[in-house]
Amino acid sequence: KDIIRLEQISKVYQMGDVEVQAIANVSLSIQAGEYCAIMGPSGSGKSTAMNIIGCLDRPSKGQYYLDGTDVAQLPKKELSAIRNQKLGFVFQQFHLLAQLTALENVMLPMVYAGIKGRERRDKAAEALKQVGLENRMQNKPNQLSGGQQQRVAIARAIVNRPVVLLADEPTGALDTKTTEEVMDIFTQLNQDGMTVVMVTHEPDVARLTNRIIWFRDGQVVQSHLTLDEFQPS
Ligand code: ADP
Ligand code: ADP
Repeated sequence: KDIIRLEQISKVYQMGDVEVQAIANVSLSIQAGEYCAIMGPSGSGKSTAMNIIGCLDRPSKGQYYLDGTDVAQLPKKELSAIRNQKLGFVFQQFHLLAQLTALENVMLPMVYAGIKGRERRDKAAEALKQVGLENRMQNKPNQLSGGQQQRVAIARAIVNRPVVLLADEPTGALDTKTTEEVMDIFTQLNQDGMTVVMVTHEPDVARLTNRIIWFRDGQVVQSHLTLDEFQPS
């Protein structure tokens, strides 16, 4: 089953009189349960594609089916409703709220989803347990290592049980050891059935996924290949 399907997606940014074609006729499918990395040089269109996949931006042209629904031309409000319902996000900078505990940070998305207090607490605790932080629930971000903070952010991203977990350079701010710690969590979540898509510049991170989607000059140039098979031309 395709969870993400882009058909001939293009995005043009208007900069004054100048049009910048960020991606052109990108077609791409990601199945339920896949574990993918998106790679490519700076300026190749990765962020643009991720913003569209993440329902943060709309394409100029083409169809985008997310879990069966064409969301390409949905109004902003409906797009953000779908985003909250279907997607979880992890960023390079963890974006945790400093004044809240780990548990409270993970409870936040459920406040917006209108889930009651007791259930919020139980679900947040369960998500934190899934990332191995059951003993850190009452700690604030500044009492946690970078790797632990990113694991809190992952717990927050999965607490509403999204159909896809999207991560933009999730290990970009971490050292080698904590990168491994965080990648172990993504791998475990994927083994438990979560579809995971991440942008990364790090070959050692991409290598741990099952598929690499390569962008160059606003197009997908290679897909369905592991890093070792890929021969840059
Ligand atoms: P990457 O994430 O691979 O670095 P981007 O998607 O950020 O690539 O950029 C692809 C191309 O689109 C680049 O030429 C970039 O300068 C341009 N671009 C990206 N975002 C914008 C924007 N908001 N306005 C104008 N041009 C943009
Ligand atoms: P990344 O490190 O993810 O590639 P960038 O530094 O390329 O991010 O871009 C940061 C932000 O600026 C993004 O939201 C992107 O869409 C926007 N952007 C990128 N290139 C341009 C551009 N040429 N003009 C305007 N905005 C841009």
